[in-house]
Amino acid sequence: MTTYEQVLAKLPAEIVVLDQDIIGGYTTDFRKKYTGKSPALLRPRSTEEVAEIVKLCNEHSVALVPVGGNTGYCGGTTPDDSDEQLLISLQRMKKIREVDGDNLSITVDAGCILSEIHDAAAQEKLMFPLSLGSQQSCQIGGNISTNAGGVSAIRYGITRDLVLGLEAVLPDGQILSNLSPLRKDNRGYALHQLLIGAEGSLGIVTAASLRLFLPASSRVSAFLAINDISDLIPLLAKAQQYTGEAITSFEYISNTSLELLLAKKPELRRPIAEPAKHFVLIEAATSSPILPLDQAIEAFFEDGMSEEMIVDGAIASSEQQRLDFWNLREHIPEGEVLNGGSVKHDVSVRTSDTARFIELGTALVDRFGRGARLSIYGHVGDGNVHFNVLAPAGVNASMFLEEISTEVSPRIYDLVAKMDGSFSAEYGLGQDKLSLDQTYGDPIKRNLMRKFKNVLDPREIMNPGKVVSSRNVMSDEKEVQCL
Ligand SMILES: Cc1cc2nc3c(=O)[nH]c(=O)nc-3n(C[C@H](O)[C@H](O)[C@H](O)COP(=O)(O)OP(=O)(O)OC[C@H]3O[C@@H](n4cnc5c(N)ncnc54)[C@H](O)[C@@H]3O)c2cc1C
Repeated sequence: MTTYEQVLAKLPAEIVVLDQDIIGGYTTDFRKKYTGKSPALLRPRSTEEVAEIVKLCNEHSVALVPVGGNTGYCGGTTPDDSDEQLLISLQRMKKIREVDGDNLSITVDAGCILSEIHDAAAQEKLMFPLSLGSQQSCQIGGNISTNAGGVSAIRYGITRDLVLGLEAVLPDGQILSNLSPLRKDNRGYALHQLLIGAEGSLGIVTAASLRLFLPASSRVSAFLAINDISDLIPLLAKAQQYTGEAITSFEYISNTSLELLLAKKPELRRPIAEPAKHFVLIEAATSSPILPLDQAIEAFFEDGMSEEMIVDGAIASSEQQRLDFWNLREHIPEGEVLNGGSVKHDVSVRTSDTARFIELGTALVDRFGRGARLSIYGHVGDGNVHFNVLAPAGVNASMFLEEISTEVSPRIYDLVAKMDGSFSAEYGLGQDKLSLDQTYGDPIKRNLMRKFKNVLDPREIMNPGKVVSSRNVMSDEKEVQCL
């Protein structure tokens, strides 16, 4: 009997899936960049069952790979090809444990789909603001483990800012119950923060207490066209001045991103007839029944037009038009896929440097030439740019993109580093960005992460090969003699 078979033999049969047709749905990542093998998918029904699984895996040194909605972009859920790593999914753990309206908090099982949490909050006339294009399939456990960002981070922060407490099973099978939804709690280290963004490498998140907010009583969206990229961030400042703190999204879309999408999906409505180089989807919302948000946005719009920062635009006049704007934004990644795929660069710089990064990055791609197409979009209100390069139409995309990866990507990442930015803004490291971490990451931080991993998971059973590279850190150790 192999070691993983010894683990499986001790588990209740109802939580073990051996059918390779089902397992196959989890062994390739969302982008179809990584494929591995696994002999079994484990589907526990409770935190205690998760603890039992982890304890057995630890005893037998069997690796466990947590899978959420499998919408991650860095291959974090894909097992290796040894066919010995077990997959674990919390898809049966979907309870809304508590909604406390007066405390503005909700406590949920980690297997809840993000949109289910939106619905549960809405039933109590409250709102959970984390909002991603994948929200119909990603799980809150995955959001927490990737520290997801999304389209409302400019107002409400990223996942880390929305988590009040966590319950997690640590790599030795102990349950860390840090679920308290207290707003203030300074009893020592905030250990739950360590698990946020850990991509399953330090344990399995089984439940979370999250912050809720009052829902918007009015909301205004506008699709704006601009021609001069240097107007981008001043326009954000202007919008903030006019609306107070009401801006919830400030999403940049390059003309190429929009045209790539509309060419393949003509049924999506073009929001503005006038051609332009850049577009911004802006949204403001308030729960105050007093603030006249529509007047504030109209005044901002007129001011932006009179200063020729905005060349054209449309303020949504109905909920349907607002949804149409967002529909376009959310389909931009699909537009890239339908045009042969892209080499993605999920990067961030200071918000004040965003326009300059877009200009300098575009110049780098132009210098490479050969018809490479650039799709740029993202949550630029928080400095997060998705800077993606596509092959020209009619060219073998996979060969071309390979060349982009080797010849253009390093220059883009060099530029990000020079601007003190991050080579991973919101998708994490997974297995995809480990080599970037070696080149651009901080060796002291990498070494400390390795040490935490060794303390919590000495047998390296939790999602090995992701986030922190292999156990051998001698070169880092030499680099970091102060530790
Ligand atoms: C159309 C689309 C739009 C997207 N938009 C955004 C966006 O705006 N912002 C953004 O940040 N991301 C975005 N993403 C990426 C992705 O949706 C997020 O990273 C999301 O948080 C992943 O959640 P998931 O449940 O799918 O996790 P998975 O992909 O299943 O897992 C991600 C990582 O978390 C680990 N993990 C999963 N569950 C647990 C758990 N319970 N305990 C411990 N570890 C666990 C996995 O092992 C893996 O390492 C988008 C993806 C798509 C397809």
